[in-house]
Amino acid sequence: MNELISVAEAEALIARHMPSFGSERVGLDDAAGRILRGPIHAERDQPPFDRVMMDGIALRRSGSLPRSFKLSGVQLAGMAAQTLLDEDSCIEVTTGAMLPDGCDCIVPVEQTRRDGDRYVLAEDYQPAHRQFIHARGSDCVIDALLLDAGTCIGAPEMAVLAANGVTDVEVAIVPSVAIIATGDELVDVGAVLGEGQIRRSNDRALAAALRTRGFHRVALSQVADDLGATIATLDALLATHEVLILSGGVSMGQRDHVPAALHALGVRRVFHRIAQRPGKPMWFGIGPQGQAVFALPGNPVSALVCAIRYVMPALLASMGTVTEPPEHVCLDGAVDTNANLTCFVPAHVQHDSSGRALAHPVPSRTSGDFSSLPRTHGFVQLPPGQNIVVAGTAAAFYRW
Ligand code: AMP
Ligand code: MG
Repeated sequence: MNELISVAEAEALIARHMPSFGSERVGLDDAAGRILRGPIHAERDQPPFDRVMMDGIALRRSGSLPRSFKLSGVQLAGMAAQTLLDEDSCIEVTTGAMLPDGCDCIVPVEQTRRDGDRYVLAEDYQPAHRQFIHARGSDCVIDALLLDAGTCIGAPEMAVLAANGVTDVEVAIVPSVAIIATGDELVDVGAVLGEGQIRRSNDRALAAALRTRGFHRVALSQVADDLGATIATLDALLATHEVLILSGGVSMGQRDHVPAALHALGVRRVFHRIAQRPGKPMWFGIGPQGQAVFALPGNPVSALVCAIRYVMPALLASMGTVTEPPEHVCLDGAVDTNANLTCFVPAHVQHDSSGRALAHPVPSRTSGDFSSLPRTHGFVQLPPGQNIVVAGTAAAFYRW
């Protein structure tokens, strides 16, 4: 039997062996949710010109501070800059327009009154120097670093890319992932159930974890508890996918053929078995062409915990995503743990009045008990060393 390794060792071994999936250029319309592979710099100063921030009039504040100004032109958003004639004149402006040359102040339209061809300032209104002018380069200057490599392109990033003339971007290739459910007892979701049979759910759960994180190239399949069939299925999938995620068949039972099948196909084992509960039988290895192979235990809680704790972070890191440290929460109740194992305990998280994240443990009675998981937000990681963890303990928290 293989020696158990710690959670930290498992994490480090995966990180050390994970392949890179490369990068590709995509048009901006296909870039949402993708991971940037290079930095993005400012195309020009932002704003690119002194920008009017209010509808109103632009003028120059002179020492004598006149109260009325002759309208000498109109400066709309999108027009090239006009020039103010003199301190007795003003130019009508709209939000987003260039500040006309010679002007140093915007007076909002509600602080003015129109009198023939003149604008008169509201009584007692004192315009300040450069008020309502968004100064050129005050947000950022040309060539400033705007987005780091490893950033996931969400709405703000998309706005920055578009505003800076980036028509296509270098992003991480999303690996093609095969999910393989093993087990003679499994039937498809819509099948008529025979005695002793259960519906396959791990593959759908794993696919959901992937798809909600932007991994949309996912294929599902099932294989019986048969060494030959497992070898044939995995052989075909290794040829077409960069990542394989298996569920079941990885323990020490007589029908657990996954490690032997992977060995026969030249997938090099990096580790088998982690000192953790649930998910102790997890297996990880690298295929002959660098494919990453994660073989997870079949129990639904184990499979999902291992996927969230190891597989998702590993895939994201391989694509160059900047990894965030885990959230921390405070337990609001005691939990039974195991002094020799890291325990992952599903928990419901809410914030108290001071904003502190409190985790209410919802321990599953067995690693097959997944019916209560939808009432939880993720799981806490409780290190080995004691058999009970008391309320008030701080713990790392991983969201489903
Ligand atoms: P195994 O790791 O193959 O021994 O599987 C352990 C248990 O997990 C099985 O007895 C099933 O009840 C359950 N199981 C395995 N695979 C799946 C699956 N794809 N979906 C739902 N439950 C599963
Ligand atoms: Mg099985």
